[in-house]
Amino acid sequence: MKEADAFAALISTGHALAGAGLSPGTTGNISTRVGDRILVSGTGARLGALSNDDIAILTLNGERIVGAAPTKEAMLHVRAYAVRPEVTAVVHLHSPAALAVSCLADLPEASPLPCYTPYYAMKAGRVALVDYFPPGDERLAEASGTALRAADSLLLRRHGLVTIGPELASAVAAAEELEANADIHLRLAGRAADPLSPDDVAALPHWRNR
Ligand SMILES: [Zn+2]
Repeated sequence: MKEADAFAALISTGHALAGAGLSPGTTGNISTRVGDRILVSGTGARLGALSNDDIAILTLNGERIVGAAPTKEAMLHVRAYAVRPEVTAVVHLHSPAALAVSCLADLPEASPLPCYTPYYAMKAGRVALVDYFPPGDERLAEASGTALRAADSLLLRRHGLVTIGPELASAVAAAEELEANADIHLRLAGRAADPLSPDDVAALPHWRNR
């Protein structure tokens, strides 16, 4: 993808995520990798009003080449690309349901939510829980990078979600399904449920196995 196309894709993705109510206020940040450059939304940017001026271009090490001051969570994006070279998009949101479930006690680390629907498995893939660190803390970026070696999506404790994909559309679809599965979890409110079995999940395709 050309850089100009990547700017346009990032902007339309930001507008769509905000329009769907997944990026309250100025929360959330998104990025896409074009070759050895990372285009990431800027600090304080409102995804619903994202424009060319709100986007930073970084090296793969996270150094700013040009553009806006990057989001303070930029290193989380940098680490994701470092550990998953097949990935060209990272979405990070403080979406309401994911944020709410990230505050629940006793979430299992390896698979924090039951898999209620096949779409969750097919889009979000393997989901892991990451411990709480303050936003922008280097330890949060490190812990997220470590978790993404095995997982395809993250639930950040008391914070929100992170998804990745071989293109922006798949990272967005993963975020939407993680949010939907979190919403189902909240609506079920601890009632007896009948989620997919590990065998059901294993039989479903995910882009990782393309
Ligand atoms: Zn955040």
